[in-house]
Amino acid sequence: MKKSDSKTVIFITGTPGVGKTTIASCLKDKISSELVKINEFADEKGLFLGKDREKGYNIIDLDKLSEETEKLINQIPNNIILEGHLSHFCSKPDIVIVLRLQPAILESRLMEREYSSSKVNENLEAEALGICASEAYQIHGDIVQEIDTSNLTVEEVLDITIQIIKGKKRFKVGNVDFLDWVIS
Ligand code: ADP
Ligand code: MG
Repeated sequence: MKKSDSKTVIFITGTPGVGKTTIASCLKDKISSELVKINEFADEKGLFLGKDREKGYNIIDLDKLSEETEKLINQIPNNIILEGHLSHFCSKPDIVIVLRLQPAILESRLMEREYSSSKVNENLEAEALGICASEAYQIHGDIVQEIDTSNLTVEEVLDITIQIIKGKKRFKVGNVDFLDWVIS
């Protein structure tokens, strides 16, 4: 649902590797939108609580992230896309899209990144359990939709995303189920 006719605020979230950056970058041009990559934004603004010593990465301060992105959203008159696996912790979206991907396919994508095996497994488990989708739903409710991208090309995911934004299609949270990966 749109807050006003002139501007739609879209969050694109999901486990690392599902295709958020790819889809958001294409979508930006299709709907003439500003694009905010959450991780880069947090880096630029220094929105960190500290460093996770074990895992070696900066822990993003979600309260500050939400505050700062809200200020930015208010400043920008155009459509705006917030992209990143923490975007669903931000405020005031019109639509939240969770990209999903079968863990077996995700595994091969994450293996191409320089992730440790524990980080790969952590992400596969998160995807199988639908963590991003359930977190997003708990925070934002029915404006959250999820797309199973497993057998779709980038173009097809993009088309579905645009139809969701236009209100022509609806993919309620709860229809994607990768739990069999956990028990197999
Ligand atoms: P994220 O931003 O969610 O971590 P990326 O957009 O970086 O994911 O995509 C991870 C990899 O998967 C990239 O190599 C990208 O080209 C590829 N990819 C993304 N979407 C698709 C798709 N629908 N089909 C095939 N490959 C895809
Ligand atoms: Mg990305």
